[in-house]
Amino acid sequence: MTPATTKPFGNNVTQCPHCGCHARTLKSDQITPTYREIRYACTNKACAHIFVADLSVVRTLVPSALPNPQVNIPLSNAAGAASTADNQNQHELFEAPVGAA
Ligand SMILES: [Zn+2]
Repeated sequence: MTPATTKPFGNNVTQCPHCGCHARTLKSDQITPTYREIRYACTNKACAHIFVADLSVVRTLVPSALPNPQVNIPLSNAAGAASTADNQNQHELFEAPVGAA
């Protein structure tokens, strides 16, 4: 059995959210420098789901040597910094008093 952390289907394939089969890329459009939309088609003929997913640049691990001044991407201090921040946010959620708005 393949561990859950490995890439399941390769670079241009993802998993159909309905049947779990491979969905292949039909089309990909770069909308902004940090946002791309990808159209997928499920390869399971019994399902035939066609859907759009997106790909966003969320943070920088190593800054570009050729930075685009119009692009602002948050910088991570280290590879694990973002997940640590995420965990801290979750911790705050759990510490909020019940019923607090
Ligand atoms: Zn499917």
